[in-house]
Amino acid sequence: MRVRFAPSPTGELHVGGARTALYNWLLARGSGGSFVLRIEDTDRERSTAENRDRILEALRWLELDWDEGPYSQAERAPRHLEAIEQLLASGHAYEDEGAVRFRVPPGETVVHDLIRGEIRFPHEAIKDFVIRRSDGSPLYNLAVAVDDVDMRISHVVRGDDHLSNTPRQLMIIRALGHEPPAYAHLPLLLGPDGKKLSKRHGATSVEELRARGYLPEAVRNYLALLGWGLDDRTTFISTEQLIKHFSLERVSRSPAVFDEQKLRWMNGHYLRGLELDDLVERLAEYLDRQGIVPRDRLDRERLRAAARASQEKLQTLADFWPLAGFVLERREPSEELRSWLLETGGVERLRLARERLAALERFDPPTIEEALRSLAEELGVKGAAIFQPVRVAIAGSKVSPGIFESLAALGREEALARIDATLA
Ligand code: GLU
Repeated sequence: MRVRFAPSPTGELHVGGARTALYNWLLARGSGGSFVLRIEDTDRERSTAENRDRILEALRWLELDWDEGPYSQAERAPRHLEAIEQLLASGHAYEDEGAVRFRVPPGETVVHDLIRGEIRFPHEAIKDFVIRRSDGSPLYNLAVAVDDVDMRISHVVRGDDHLSNTPRQLMIIRALGHEPPAYAHLPLLLGPDGKKLSKRHGATSVEELRARGYLPEAVRNYLALLGWGLDDRTTFISTEQLIKHFSLERVSRSPAVFDEQKLRWMNGHYLRGLELDDLVERLAEYLDRQGIVPRDRLDRERLRAAARASQEKLQTLADFWPLAGFVLERREPSEELRSWLLETGGVERLRLARERLAALERFDPPTIEEALRSLAEELGVKGAAIFQPVRVAIAGSKVSPGIFESLAALGREEALARIDATLA
């Protein structure tokens, strides 16, 4: 199979576009074929080089590598004009006040869509359409048709917002004397409220998903399931398995719902499955890219300790810093939390906990746990009556990863210093 992804560089890469890219990529990889990237930049006003680069970066982040391209459609204008000359010469097109129109013949065009089946387009409903403006520039449908032929595309897989273009492109391709590719139009993406997916549903671009701390492999898994399924049960499916099993036959005709909460949950599963070193590397990358902690100022050892302590609780990379950043930077308890310590007797229990922690021979989670639990038992209080004051002192918050892991991640010296600062 030779497939292509053909984004217009008029904005970011949206999740709908990303799904189209993914499906094409899966088809190419699964068939040993080629994935062609074509930038449809003929709309001079809305296309920018910056958007183009952002789309390429988003595809790279998703690890959807292409075998050919990126081609620029705009640069192929001479080829498009040549095809227009051919259509004029063969009588399939005619001049109309300086513009060129395609002559729609009587009859109908039948699209054998691989997902939607047979769709008939009676030609009465299609007027002779412009393929070259009076300023001499070729139009979109002409360019797409010529490029798909020249690039020997075997399957055009794209969003079904393009369905109405398909009969026009088919007519052009046939008039040029070529066999058209096969077509498959993917169902629309909706938000959880059933309305067309848009900004108000939250993150809708790949860049936003990246900034929100999703992992590319989780995003691929999630996007693959928007309109396709291995069977009725399988939720987690590796990219390798996707490549092996993906097929257009199982793509649904009905719209799919993009629900970020589901992606979050799925992402958490992928995060928990990462090797610690891999998680640390991704966190370092993320913190740097988001401008939270520059790479060269990052304490790797502490990051590793914090990652180990928090991995079970993370759903996204973005969850890490609010939850476990205290291991890397001191966060003093607010006035409110200090009064809470005073009013609840937490200060006294914190003092006692400090003594126990200072006396420990080893400072690892099981030893710490044992010490703090026996203190609670001796005092006849619940564990939380000890853990929460300690947590507030070391993390400046009542929320943190497991307290024993958190203490161990900080190390004894730093943990005691923070407790002392709170007690002072
Ligand atoms: N450039 C079109 C878009 O970004 C895609 C055209 C096609 O796939 O044929 O929506």
